[in-house]
Amino acid sequence: MSEGQHNSVAANAALSAGGSLWQACIDQLAQELPEQQFNTWIKPLVAQVSEDFSRVTVFVANRFKLDWVRAQYSNRIASLLEKLYGQPVQLELALALREPVARTYSSQSNAAEMSPAPEPADIAEDNAATAFKNRLNTALTFENLVEGTANRMARAAAMHVSGMPGQLYNPLFIYGGVGLGKTHLMHAVGNKLLADKPGSKVLYIHAEQFVSDVVKAYQRKTFDEFKERYHSLDLLLIDDVQFFANKDRTQEEFFNAFEALLAKKSHIVMTSDTYPKGLTDIHERLVSRFDSGLTVAIEPPELEMRVAILINKARAESAEMPEEVAFFVAKNVRSNVRELEGALRKILAYSRFNQKEISIQLAREALRDLLSIQNRQIGVENIQKTVADYYKIKVADMYSKKRPASIARPRQIAMYLAKELTQKSLPEIGELFGGRDHTTVLHAVRKIAGERQQLTELNQQLHVLEQTLKG
Ligand code: ADP
Ligand code: MG
Repeated sequence: MSEGQHNSVAANAALSAGGSLWQACIDQLAQELPEQQFNTWIKPLVAQVSEDFSRVTVFVANRFKLDWVRAQYSNRIASLLEKLYGQPVQLELALALREPVARTYSSQSNAAEMSPAPEPADIAEDNAATAFKNRLNTALTFENLVEGTANRMARAAAMHVSGMPGQLYNPLFIYGGVGLGKTHLMHAVGNKLLADKPGSKVLYIHAEQFVSDVVKAYQRKTFDEFKERYHSLDLLLIDDVQFFANKDRTQEEFFNAFEALLAKKSHIVMTSDTYPKGLTDIHERLVSRFDSGLTVAIEPPELEMRVAILINKARAESAEMPEEVAFFVAKNVRSNVRELEGALRKILAYSRFNQKEISIQLAREALRDLLSIQNRQIGVENIQKTVADYYKIKVADMYSKKRPASIARPRQIAMYLAKELTQKSLPEIGELFGGRDHTTVLHAVRKIAGERQQLTELNQQLHVLEQTLKG
């Protein structure tokens, strides 16, 4: 390593100056951040400052921490470095290498002291060593959980819990309909905590399994072991607690475990198909405990999120799903992510089996059964909604008087499609577009029809919209 060979006085001066630049940055962060946050995220960081100070590389122990530090702190660190040095400093985040990196500055040591970068945690080994069956599915992580408006709150809260269990949002109660990603989110919390702190005792359990554990302990008179097991956890992830309904003994045991875990600042994450007060046949004292931390909902994913999920999942299967096909599928499969996955599987299988590229036509064939159920009559309202979604404008703009091209054009396209795909007359269409005159509609229809002949891009867009609407 060439850097390590320098030994001049100047280099040493630069070395300690680099160290103090980083140290000054750390000192500032120590002032700004709550102690716990600072100790967890900033203190373990190790930095390497380039000789001209133009670049600072910060080494982070593992991927999860890296993502977190990048998301939460990198902007602040970069602006502090710039302020302290007086010129822009390029900040890079990197995974800590296995070999010690020469000339790194750890915030835990003296400014100029060199310290080797930490080794990344060997997750698999550590987990095996704990020999504790956590029932986590390692495939369900934050990385492959697509974020959208529908799950943003829940995801952020879950992220927070996995970074700092036992502190805020305890218990975390996540609720929402089937197939919206509740179970996925829970596993993500567990997996991330174990990646960060491999020694943690984590257990994922479905409420039904908990019930059967209680029954077994009851029959075998092994409540002590049962208690010991549950009460020793750092993180308990308990899925679908609505299944506790009418199970008195289970509720009592769960209540005990709950109290014991909260008392020792272990974290509890729960999911359910409804919010706590909506739960039926569960004791009031338990319901009020469920609601005593943070309760967040996961909503059904919106169109753009469904598109992103499809593209991501296709990629995970090493297939490329063109955006227009994803849009077509997302528009037609709306209820939940599990259904979306089912549709994707059908399309991929169909494409592989027939050795055809993924296209709207192919998707339509693969999903024929599913689509025929929804083979509805095309209405103007549906056209307005689909076009608005496609061009990312508000549906309300279809009726509004606004004139900027970014709005007027999609509106004209919607009018054109309304004329083409429905039986409505020009005045009727005008009426449905905020009481516009029929000549306005006629103008739009002629204009778009004419341009469609000239502009391939527009033609392509109209094609996607027609396909989507025809389902
Ligand atoms: P729930 O527990 O709410 O019924 P799951 O967590 O079992 O739902 O999710 C159903 C499927 O959808 C799983 O395969 C999950 O990985 C996937 N899924 C759900 N939400 C997302 C998302 N936002 N991004 C990627 N995959 C998701
Ligand atoms: Mg579930």
